Amino acid sequence: MAAFDETWQFPIPSTSRGRGFEWDSRDEALMDRAIALARSVPETATLPNPRVGALIVEDGIIVSEGYHARDGGPHAERIALHNLGRLPKHEAQMIVTLEPCSTTGRTGSCCERILAARNIRRVVIGTIDPNPAHAGRGIRLLLEARIEVVWGVRTAACEALNPRFNARMLALPRTQGRHRKLPSHGQPA
Ligand SMILES: [Zn+2]
Repeated sequence: MAAFDETWQFPIPSTSRGRGFEWDSRDEALMDRAIALARSVPETATLPNPRVGALIVEDGIIVSEGYHARDGGPHAERIALHNLGRLPKHEAQMIVTLEPCSTTGRTGSCCERILAARNIRRVVIGTIDPNPAHAGRGIRLLLEARIEVVWGVRTAACEALNPRFNARMLALPRTQGRHRKLPSHGQPA
């Protein structure tokens, strides 16, 4: 499996595609379902937050779903894990339309929640967080926990979920001095 390019810098552009890991049409089909979940609510319902959909997949089968329904409500990843009602099975995957949040806000960090679920081996992400202060942070946290991460799956459709959120985030000032290298040890053994 290819190593990550250590010259990669954070924040990473939202159009970047995950390197080193592959995805296929099954991942795209699952992402389409996550996108449909995110679309369960109008964009105005979640503003200023984005619409997000998430799935938990075990042995290729969707076993739980979640979406962000309203501003201040729990995030899609957390709902999907809650709805599962148990720890995911070993080797489970999460499919999510937006990079999981890495900073604890009103509802806690989804990266922390994913790690607490222990058995999620792979996370498939549609788009990187467009907030320049956060872009790539969630991916980095997951990689450092030796979870396989791919991103850039159905990016255009995932970005189209949140035109207003994206515009607001991209208008934020570029952060200085936050550039960090991707970990070289992200890929599972
Ligand atoms: Zn979150």
